[in-house]
Amino acid sequence: MAVRTGIGRSAGLLALGPFFYLRRAPAAAIVLVLLVLLLTALTQLGGLLLWLALPALDPLVRAMPGPRALRLLAAAGLFVPAYLAVSLVIIPPLAAQFGRVPLPCGYRGENAYGALTAATCLANRHYASPAARDALSATATRLAAEVPGRRISYLDSGFPFFAWFPMLPHLSHTDGRKVDLALFFLDPATGRPAPGRAPSPIGYWAYVPPDPGAALPCNGRKSWLRWDFHWLQPLLPALRLDEAAQAALLKDLAASPQVRRILIEPHLKARLGADHPKIRFQGCAAARHDDHVHIEFR
Ligand SMILES: [Zn+2]
Repeated sequence: MAVRTGIGRSAGLLALGPFFYLRRAPAAAIVLVLLVLLLTALTQLGGLLLWLALPALDPLVRAMPGPRALRLLAAAGLFVPAYLAVSLVIIPPLAAQFGRVPLPCGYRGENAYGALTAATCLANRHYASPAARDALSATATRLAAEVPGRRISYLDSGFPFFAWFPMLPHLSHTDGRKVDLALFFLDPATGRPAPGRAPSPIGYWAYVPPDPGAALPCNGRKSWLRWDFHWLQPLLPALRLDEAAQAALLKDLAASPQVRRILIEPHLKARLGADHPKIRFQGCAAARHDDHVHIEFR
């Protein structure tokens, strides 16, 4: 009975999460609630893990010697490996119950596609349906057969759980059927393809400038969902779009029966001659698609 009471008390403390600190340090509790929300938005499960870890780590932090800042750093040092272990060992089999599989993070072995940045995988933003994974893999293999060494870099795809949980800032990436792909670029020094490289470290927000005279339907129209980041563009390295690879990718994906539609900015569609009914414009009240391509699978 005493054991059962002890377990119940521990579970109750874990359930308190950041509110465990509310009486002792109210300001810290509020900051921790915000951190939980941020981690939930960025990684889906990271917020829940932090919620549970906060009361669990408290006795350890209090028992440690040394200044408070150092003890908090040590607590973070305990949380990060726990988060990684859960991400690697526990999440994949659970995600399978929701019809999601992790996309390969690296380009090793047979993979002709991988994440542009490891951060995508660390944040568990690399989950997709098995059908989407297989279709993407088939396209990547065909493209690599055409030009050896050519490989696709994906950006955000989906979270491991639920079909309604939005993966901010992508409102539509909820069901594992949407995958964003980085554009293909050429190395400006050699003029050769630069697989796995993009002007922006996260793949997003480095916009390919439109050709002079190109159709720009959103010019002069403001939308809080369409970010331009004019100030950022001069700070990013200049890489030239690999038009041949990009056109080949769009052509292959458009021909795939597993692909429902592809979103890209009109000036890129015209420049690449990507004329297919599945290749469409997302509209002006949405994120720009001349820094990446959005693919929706069936
Ligand atoms: Zn997208």
